[in-house]
Amino acid sequence: MRNVESDSPGLDPEDWPQARRQAHRMLDDMLDHLEGLRTGPVWRPMPDAVRAGFDAPLPLEPTPLGRVHQEFLEQVLPYGTGNLHPGFMGWVHGGGNLAGMLGEMLAGGLNANLGGRDHAPIEVERQVLRWVRRIFGFPDTASGLFVTGTSMANFMGLLVARQTALAGLPAEANQAGLVAYASAAVHGCVSRAMDMAGLGRGALRLVPVDGDGRIRLDALEVAIAEDRVRGFRPFLVVGTAGTVDTGAVDDLAGLADLAARQRLWFHVDGAFGALAMLAPNLAPLLVGLDRADSLAFDFHKWAQVPYDAGYLLVRDGERHRAAFASPAAYLQRESRGLAAGSPWPCDFGPDLSRGFRALKTWFTLRTYGLKRLGAMIEGTCALARRLEARVKAEPSLELMAPVALNIVCFRHRGQDPDALNARIVADLHESGIAAPSTTRLEGNLVIRAAIVNHRTQARDINALVDAVLEYGRRS
Ligand SMILES: *Cc1c(COP(=O)(O)O)cnc(C)c1O
Repeated sequence: MRNVESDSPGLDPEDWPQARRQAHRMLDDMLDHLEGLRTGPVWRPMPDAVRAGFDAPLPLEPTPLGRVHQEFLEQVLPYGTGNLHPGFMGWVHGGGNLAGMLGEMLAGGLNANLGGRDHAPIEVERQVLRWVRRIFGFPDTASGLFVTGTSMANFMGLLVARQTALAGLPAEANQAGLVAYASAAVHGCVSRAMDMAGLGRGALRLVPVDGDGRIRLDALEVAIAEDRVRGFRPFLVVGTAGTVDTGAVDDLAGLADLAARQRLWFHVDGAFGALAMLAPNLAPLLVGLDRADSLAFDFHKWAQVPYDAGYLLVRDGERHRAAFASPAAYLQRESRGLAAGSPWPCDFGPDLSRGFRALKTWFTLRTYGLKRLGAMIEGTCALARRLEARVKAEPSLELMAPVALNIVCFRHRGQDPDALNARIVADLHESGIAAPSTTRLEGNLVIRAAIVNHRTQARDINALVDAVLEYGRRS
């Protein structure tokens, strides 16, 4: 019983049985939604009235949870991106999964802070690190950390590389002249990381790609030599395992050799592609990945862990820690009690307070098992090959890039093909049948279908092609 005079009003329910019924209703509604995904459209435009509903006054007074949930059902649930739907093929979005969702709910209940201290949630994150090392063939001394996504992981990998390049130099040495290399197909977040690190995007040399979208090692070698002659200080090469536009995988073994020869840090952006390692017949594409100094990837893409769950893995855990650890009196480590268990995750990145991303990942990996996840990943690539075959078989369609993994770039032929294909994609989105995205390859606007979602099936591929043909004919 609360002493009304002196106790503060906490936030726990007064009526637990009623709160319990409401909680079960919310879970049931979400399960209904997941079970019925196929019966709805991939995406639907949000009516103006719904959008306007998000400009409500400050919620000064309480609202019953049931009413807030009702608003969620009416205003939020129907107007998502659609990335749970089997017809979603835009960008590179994961589809989520039930075990991960439930893990996320439990993590919310636990409300653990994974910055540090000695508790079981930290051991779950360490367990995932041990598995990640095994998956990618990294040594036991490698460190790893959950972060928001690969954009952050790439940025942090770059900071560790820079720290390493500057370590051992006289204190007055600065980062002037440091330059990095990546292919012209590298994700835009790497240029932004250069800016955020204060190196400037101009210090990222974009090396041309070959016909398969892979970095040209000969051109890379020439660029490095020229930079050295001009007094620049090459320190980093970023390889990509699965480029965002076409899914191309750089020659990682070749890059590892070159980086060793040139004494460069070798970072791999494997945002979605790195987890092809789980599929036995795709893993050979990633030969050399185990020689990277650092690897950024996402569990929230191909592994279908609910957003967000990015990861940074660093071969030399000491260098990783050296780039981020900082002393603070109130973060004092002890050998016993709750302040034991150092080093802590906060020693390996910029965040102090951190959520329990590891739990939804642990639930996902354990519940489905790596073999099944690998088979699912291979399945999405098989669907991409099916789409490729259908595109090649249709005279009015044109394949626009080789299919390396799970991304198919194609377009409808016609006059003014850029406008035509942009129109087809917008029509597709509004039809609710399928949601691919567009990109530009060598100046041409193309339809880009990234098959990431574990729910996508052959009939969804056929529905996409049939609809493209129909909308193309109509135009
Ligand atoms: C998605 C992606 C990124 C960015 O990852 P986020 O998790 O969205 O921050 C970086 N590189 C590649 C190749 C990607 O596909």
